[in-house]
Amino acid sequence: MKIIASNFKTNHTRQSTNEFINDINKFLKDENIKNDIYIFPPSTALDNFDTVSNLCIGTQNAFYVKDGPYTGEIGHSHLDEFDIKTILIGHSERRHILDETQKTVSLKFNYFKALGYKIIYCVGEPLDIKNQGLSQTLGYIQEQFDGIDLSYKDMIVAYEPVWAIGTGVSCGLDDIATIHKKLAKKTTAPLLYGGSVKLDNIKDIINIPNVDGVLIGTASWHKDDFKKIIENCI
Ligand code: PEP
Repeated sequence: MKIIASNFKTNHTRQSTNEFINDINKFLKDENIKNDIYIFPPSTALDNFDTVSNLCIGTQNAFYVKDGPYTGEIGHSHLDEFDIKTILIGHSERRHILDETQKTVSLKFNYFKALGYKIIYCVGEPLDIKNQGLSQTLGYIQEQFDGIDLSYKDMIVAYEPVWAIGTGVSCGLDDIATIHKKLAKKTTAPLLYGGSVKLDNIKDIINIPNVDGVLIGTASWHKDDFKKIIENCI
């Protein structure tokens, strides 16, 4: 059984999210697909969705509070309203564009861990680190586990090299295998690969040892493409 996660990022409206989720839900039901599917819509599109048990809707982000004076943020009371119990933490766009530090990331992790959330925790190196070699890359990733409980039972780890995200250039299959083998020695959490996964590479990536699934941005935003990707993981 594989895990296939779609990160909408800042795409899709409330209406198009609704259409997307209902369509994917029907597809999973009609085709009797058993893989675990996750969809992370933007916060404004979160809602109570009636889905099959293997389709989970999560949030791309939340602040580590229930509620309070944190302009522009949502807390877990806003997630409770829709029974959302799954969160992405540590995504490279939040680390590198929104300047989230490892301290912030670990505060979020520990807050949502205490609430029993399923956490998809993202790690991955930027290009300048990759270019310095494997040991630098592994050292960089290790620092992204500072303050993170790698034995947390409701965690999924996503390896997403920053230079591969949204660029169309995926990580080489051997490199994915190498990093995932190292990660599998650190944690028993399921391991996802993310970074320019698309229809023409999904089959190769999903079959790499220690790859339990994929986290996909760009190639998952059109429902027909996402359905084809899901079909290719059966
Ligand atoms: C992502 O946002 O996690 C991601 C992997 O994006 P993309 O598939 O577009 O590289």
